Formats: sequence, C-alpha cells, structure tokens
Amino acid sequence: MTENTAIAPPEAPIRVRIAPSPTGDPHVGTAYIGLINFIYARQRGGQFVLRIEDTDRARFVATSEQMIFDALHWLGLTWDEGPDVGGPYGPYRQSERTEIYREHGDILLANGTAYRCFCTAEDLEAARQRQIAAKLPPRYPGTCRDLDRATIDSNLAENRPFVIRMKVPTEGSTTFRDELRGNVTFEHSNVDDQVLMKSDGFPTYHLANVVDDHLMHITDVIRAEEWISSTPKHILLYQAFGWQFPRFWHMPLLRNLDKSKISKRKNPVSLVYYRQAGFLPQAVINFLGLMGGGMPSPTPVEIVNGAKESEIFSLDEMIQRFEVPNIRLGGPVFDLTKLRWLNSEYLRALTPEAFFSALRETVLSDQYLRDISTLIQTRIETLGEFGNLTAFLLQDNVMPPQDVWVPKKRTPEETLVFSAEQLAILEVTEWTTAAMELALKKLGEEKTWSVKENFMLLRAILSGSTMSPPLLESMVIFGKARTLDRLRRFQEAQKKLANTRK
Ligand code: GLU
Repeated sequence: MTENTAIAPPEAPIRVRIAPSPTGDPHVGTAYIGLINFIYARQRGGQFVLRIEDTDRARFVATSEQMIFDALHWLGLTWDEGPDVGGPYGPYRQSERTEIYREHGDILLANGTAYRCFCTAEDLEAARQRQIAAKLPPRYPGTCRDLDRATIDSNLAENRPFVIRMKVPTEGSTTFRDELRGNVTFEHSNVDDQVLMKSDGFPTYHLANVVDDHLMHITDVIRAEEWISSTPKHILLYQAFGWQFPRFWHMPLLRNLDKSKISKRKNPVSLVYYRQAGFLPQAVINFLGLMGGGMPSPTPVEIVNGAKESEIFSLDEMIQRFEVPNIRLGGPVFDLTKLRWLNSEYLRALTPEAFFSALRETVLSDQYLRDISTLIQTRIETLGEFGNLTAFLLQDNVMPPQDVWVPKKRTPEETLVFSAEQLAILEVTEWTTAAMELALKKLGEEKTWSVKENFMLLRAILSGSTMSPPLLESMVIFGKARTLDRLRRFQEAQKKLANTRK
C-alpha cells in the first residue's frame, strides 16, 4: 500500500480566491464564500482574487459575469485581482487561458500521470451498462490506460478524437488536511480516472482549477463543501505536477429551513432578487456573516443589553472579529424570516432621508417608474389612477383568489400543474417579450392549453387580477428574479392551502 500525506504550504503571503462560473444569476452561495474569502484575506494583509471559471461552454451565460461583479460590489466586496481589475497572474478568465491548460495536459502525458483516451461515447455507455448489470459502481473501465505507443500513434494519425484522463493509482490512499475537519483520507480505488482535457480542447474544471490555483499562487482554497469530493482528484493532480498544495477549507453548505441544500424552490437564491426586492446590502452581508457562527458569541454584557444587538454587525466589524477557523460544520440555515427581520432593523436605523433615498434607488427608482409609466399611459383617464393599474408592480406579493386564477373549464389541480410548467419554462427562457411569448405558446400547444387560458393564468398570478397592463411587458419590467419569485410563492402558497384542506 502506498500512502501519501499532503504537506501544508510554507508560510507565504496569503492569497485566496473565488472562482464562480458564469452560468446564470449570481448566487447567494457565491456571496457567502466571497465574504469568507474577503474577510480571511483582509485580516491577514493578503490578496483576494476573483477568477471566472467559464470553460463549461454549454452552460455559459454571457451576461452572468457582469452580474456577478455588480452583485458582489453591491454587497461591498472588492477584489485585488480579477478580469475587471487585472493583476500580475492574469488572464483571470479561464476561456483566455486554454493554451496554458493544453501545455499542462502535455506535461502530465509526458510524465506518465495522464493518458490519451480514444473511447467513444458509445464505448463508454456500453461499459457503463455492463457495470450497472454487474452491480458495480460505474467508472472508466481503463481501456486506454496502457495503450502501446504504436496504437496511440496510429490513432493520432487517423485523427481520432481523444480526451486526456488522469492515471489514478489503483492502490493506496492519500490523506489531506481540511482546516475545518482535520485529516481526510481517501482510497485511490474510489477515485475514477477523471477526464482532464475534453476532446474540444477545453479543460475540465479539475485541471483548470488546479493549474490556476497553482499559477496564481493561491495559499488557501476556501470553497463550498460540495467540492470536497473533488479535492482528492486535485491532490493527486498537485502530486502529478510535483507541486505543493494550498490549504483547503470547505465551508458548510447553506440550507433551506428543512435542512436540504439551499435551492431556488424553497428560497430565492439570486442576489439580483434581493437587490430588486429591496433588501439592503448591509443586511444581506450581515445575514451571510451569521451563517456558520464565525462571529464570536455575544458576551455576557451584550446579552444583558439584548442578545439581538450582537447579531447586527457591519463588514468592518466582521473583518475585526470574525474567525474563519471557528466556523461550525452543521449546515447553517438560510432563514428568510430572519433576513427580513434583519433588513427591517437596518431600515429602521436609517435617517428619514436615507430611507427615502433607499426607496428611490430601488423600488421607486426613476428608471423603474419610467418603465412602468410606459405601460399605462394609454390606459388611464387621470394621473391619479396610476396606482390602480400598477400596484402589483410595486407590491412585494399578491395572491389571487381561486376564482381568478382557475380558468372556467379547468380544475385547480391541473391549473397548478400547468403553472408549475410555466415556471419551469420561464426559468430557462431569455427575459424578452418575444422569447417568452414563443416559449409559453409552445408549452400551451404541447399541453393543450389555449393561448387565452395560458396567459390569463400568468396574468392572474403576476397581477392578482384578470385585468392588467400588457402581461409580457410587465414581466420584463418587473424583472426575471422577482417574477419567478412571485410564481414560486404562488406555488408554495397553493400547495400549503391544498395540504390544509386534505
Ligand atoms: N467554478 C467553481 C464554482 O463554480 C469553483 C469551485 C472552487 O472554488 O474550486 O464554484
């Protein structure tokens, strides 16, 4: 049995990073991990790097990167190096570093820790089926692990596409230290021969992530717990290159109230939502700072003065007092009721003038009011009726009565199912009237819901009524994050109601 024990990096100037993938709206989890990295760097005079991991071209969303920057800045987080600010180890967008990964793939091929795999998708599927039939865990069967030179050369001469796989030792184990958990040991027999370079010349997450963390001199990888199962592969990669590895810290996952991993079904997870719905950035960052218990518990004096007080702190206070090593592993609960309470505390503490400014910068901004006014100019007789037609765009929530949302010839049950399908379609649709119209009509045709029923239902959920300004235009102005939140809240509320009736 071979055994390896990972060695901690030498004392070096602290450098940490977050590495979000631009695949959609910026996620509260990114802000949480960003906050911890930011605090860790600022407390130690270190550098905080933002790297964009955009090698998964299938999930790439062009607007996402800017949205990530904007959301993190909104929360008061700043970084020292990144695609927007530059820095000595750029480029900081992985799609601009493909040559670097190719060179590193070649290093591993040359030193025998990786190999070219010419298996086709069909070969792999057939192997998978055989393994499933034999009740074995599906994994790469090793077909190309030890191809002889002549076979490799002839495959290359025929231009057969290939991926590069990591040659994971078949025996032994490796132990690494997780700074919150202590030693973690994994058996090599449980690690698959991971693909490092895809046949399109793009690296996988694993190769790009390790190469960049090394070349960007990252000393501490502080990331979400969901990546811990990847860390064994990363450790093996560091060893394959002969590099020292960083310290690893895997932060507990944020959880829904029911303790499941945080999900958009149960909580809004888009930072865009919180901003547009009128949460103050100080409240959101404070709330994230409460997750996991990195702030010291209230002292007896603080408790006497009201324990709640000690739950309210600024980013600067976090930099002074937060202890990353004290973070508890039990999944912190992302409790929206608590966040709303915190937000109300922050709102109350504003001066009247600052409160008014906060309204004017968000739910009553010039831009928003201007957009809304275009919807209703031809529909009112006096300006005084402005509120009658637009209230639903200024409210946090509306809930239509059943006779409004259930079409005449439908049951509440089937209507609820169809509304869930509308929600699922809208989640993946570009937020323009044309794209939404097309997607909704297609869904209606598939499910034999008339255009009228289809759009009326959506109108009822969005506006609470059967009459509203133009529906799709209203949705565009209200925004994707808030519209989807309204549809989800409708689903949740109706499900709860249905359960209480049972
Ligand atoms: N690209 C990964 C993400 O989307 C980075 C994970 C890591 O920090 O290693 O979160």
